[in-house]
Amino acid sequence: LVTVNRRAPTDVIEYQQLIDGDTVELVIERDGRSMEIVVTKTLGEPLGLSIDSAVFDRVRTCDNHCSFCFIYQLPKGLRRSLYVKDDDFRLSFLYGNYTTLTRFTEFDLERVIDEGLSPLYVSIHTTDPSLRAALLRNPRGATSLRWLSALLDAGIEVHGQVVVCPGVNDGDALRRTLEDALSQYPSLASLCLVPVGVSDFSTEADMRPLTATEAADVVDLAEHFAELSRRATGRRVIAASDEMYIIARREPPTVSELDTLDEAENGVGLIAAFSDSFLSGTEMAKLGTGFFQSVDGAPAWGYRAPRSSAESPSDGHGPVVLLTGEYAAPILRGLISRVGLPDVRVVAVENRYFGGNIKVAGLLTGSDIARVVSAMPAETKFLLPDACLSDDRFLDGACLGDLNADLVVIPTQGSALRQWLESRRLSHVTA
Ligand code: SF4
Repeated sequence: LVTVNRRAPTDVIEYQQLIDGDTVELVIERDGRSMEIVVTKTLGEPLGLSIDSAVFDRVRTCDNHCSFCFIYQLPKGLRRSLYVKDDDFRLSFLYGNYTTLTRFTEFDLERVIDEGLSPLYVSIHTTDPSLRAALLRNPRGATSLRWLSALLDAGIEVHGQVVVCPGVNDGDALRRTLEDALSQYPSLASLCLVPVGVSDFSTEADMRPLTATEAADVVDLAEHFAELSRRATGRRVIAASDEMYIIARREPPTVSELDTLDEAENGVGLIAAFSDSFLSGTEMAKLGTGFFQSVDGAPAWGYRAPRSSAESPSDGHGPVVLLTGEYAAPILRGLISRVGLPDVRVVAVENRYFGGNIKVAGLLTGSDIARVVSAMPAETKFLLPDACLSDDRFLDGACLGDLNADLVVIPTQGSALRQWLESRRLSHVTA
């Protein structure tokens, strides 16, 4: 596809707008030959073309070099798409990726406003200009939050995040950031505080995981400012992520304590939403897909590929083992015992591939799972959350089929796990 209505769209957003009308003029190039086609259709009807990428020019990559960047903490040799450091407001709008705005321009602002590209997701990290420039290792980090003000002034909904790095942007710096967030950016939709992930591959001397005490301080600050915000505006705005609560050894908030699950993708309220869905058997209100779902050759409207196409049969006998990350294991054990499934075992898979404080289920790798399943009886049925897969592949490149085990992939939805376990229980009773 070369042009639509004599324009060459640069991304799916523009493409969607161009094809919206009832008469669409296309220029197509095939086998070196150009042809013109006029399509007549009803307003808003899709053209039926398959598109393999969300942006047609190039993903705008970031010009920062953050010491906490997880991409620098990946081992060499993974699939190429995992190393793309995108900082593209279009991907922020389409998929909820965070942008630092250091490459944002006046032209981008105009486009966001004209086309109503809202909500957007912005990495704030700190409101101290010199600290932000140092954290991002980019002088533009000191000034790029001016775009945040411009976006909010224009009525764009913005969700912010702070990656909390101990000894760098926590403590007093974090307190000032939260004060500034509420005073300088009062219409910010939300601001979540997530702990820095530090893998064994990090080479940064000043990066280390938060201790339980440091994480508890962050939770206290978040709750204090959330309460201030709630009193002033009726909105909570500020929240620490579930992972922050787990590190702090505190109970994450329940669904009723959170105003919104909009930030579930970033780990705020994910446990609450999952637990609620598991216990009630109803679908989770919101479930994000996560940064590592992007893959080469992703399908039409998804920069992120589907996680898995594997079937999930619940028949057969033998022990059932639920595999998950170290953070989620105690929570799942609690849920399983509440609904009375004593024969289902939850096993925490230690993430030796990344090491460090990487303990979330979404970053489990094929090699770690292979190690765990090989040590268990052959007749075991293993349940695996689809969050650690993208197109049936793990982050380390291993495929589901590479694992010599009876693996069942379960959508990372509380209700899906409950349904699978209940249908298995039912089939045993019937048998
Ligand atoms: S802005 Fe994001 S992608 Fe870019 S270096 Fe920082 S953490 Fe990495």
